[in-house]
Amino acid sequence: MASIPTDTLASDTEIVKNYLDRAELPRALGSDEVAGYREQIKALMAQKNAKLVAHYYTDALLQELAEDSGGFVGDSLEMARFGHDCDADILVVAGVRFMGETAKILSPDKKVLMPTLEATCSLDIACPIDRFSEFCDQHPERTVVVYANTSAAVKARSDWVVTSSIAVDVVEHLMDAGEKILWAPDKHLGSYIQRKTGVDMLLWDAACIVHEEFKARGLQDMKALHPNAAILAHPESPAAVLEMADVVGSTTQIIKAAQRVPQSEIIVATDQGIFHKLQQLAPDKTFIIAPTAGNDATCRSCANCPWMAMNSLESMLLSLQQESEEVLVDAELAAKAMLPLQRMLNFASAQQLQVKGKA
Ligand code: SF4
Repeated sequence: MASIPTDTLASDTEIVKNYLDRAELPRALGSDEVAGYREQIKALMAQKNAKLVAHYYTDALLQELAEDSGGFVGDSLEMARFGHDCDADILVVAGVRFMGETAKILSPDKKVLMPTLEATCSLDIACPIDRFSEFCDQHPERTVVVYANTSAAVKARSDWVVTSSIAVDVVEHLMDAGEKILWAPDKHLGSYIQRKTGVDMLLWDAACIVHEEFKARGLQDMKALHPNAAILAHPESPAAVLEMADVVGSTTQIIKAAQRVPQSEIIVATDQGIFHKLQQLAPDKTFIIAPTAGNDATCRSCANCPWMAMNSLESMLLSLQQESEEVLVDAELAAKAMLPLQRMLNFASAQQLQVKGKA
């Protein structure tokens, strides 16, 4: 395993800090205000034939609204699938920008809105297309596999796009075909895949600012306090945290594991937005957020993605009323990005068929 030189990463950190300084978090709403927003948004969605797709990390109010209004809550792969399959004219994507772009690429005839286009992702920021393209050009012998948390331009430069739920399976499949991999952008997920598969993998050097804050030392202390608790962790977390986990998986895999494992106490190393769904599906269990905040943590990112948190009922209503914050992707670029995305979707469908065939 090798990785790119890190001399350019200081500037990425600066860009992320600048975003965080500018990010305006939504104000807390009273219950009457919540009811008022919900009513207005539902009426507008019915009038405009719009559907809301929300990520597990978004505010519980948005997740509830998506479910109450015939929309969908899920991980990024499931959100993209639902957006593509539903018959809405407008999709409102509550999440971060790459999710809106993916929805637009898969559903070019639908209008895709977001509560705010400002919501981005540290992985997307740290993998600009010019540098990434140069890196790919230097390694033409490698198959380029990128995480879904990337811009449309980076996807268009790749051979495969994967989400965390399918990354190991896809890379294993490529390794069996004798291919060497160039992976971007999340170094922790990349190194986890490398450890799981043993594949020859060249890694881009970027990280999720939320998952990188989980600390193994703190987790050991927490485990000492809750010795019977299970630990569930997202693979964007550092290796030392993953080594302690009973289950490593995507958000959907974490939610399934939480219902399946026998332990009644569960320590969770991912964004705390997921607790809404965990408590809904496993109400008898106690969920504890894994420790964050090492010496250099800002705690704007501690188990709470600042960009996911920018999505609110208020900004959603405004976007829907004005049909503003529209996600646009150049048609030629979208056609190129569609190829690696479609490869992933086809692969996922084939896997599903195999699972059904064995049942
Ligand atoms: S939680 Fe991390 S990977 Fe997910 S959107 Fe936020 S910064 Fe990106």
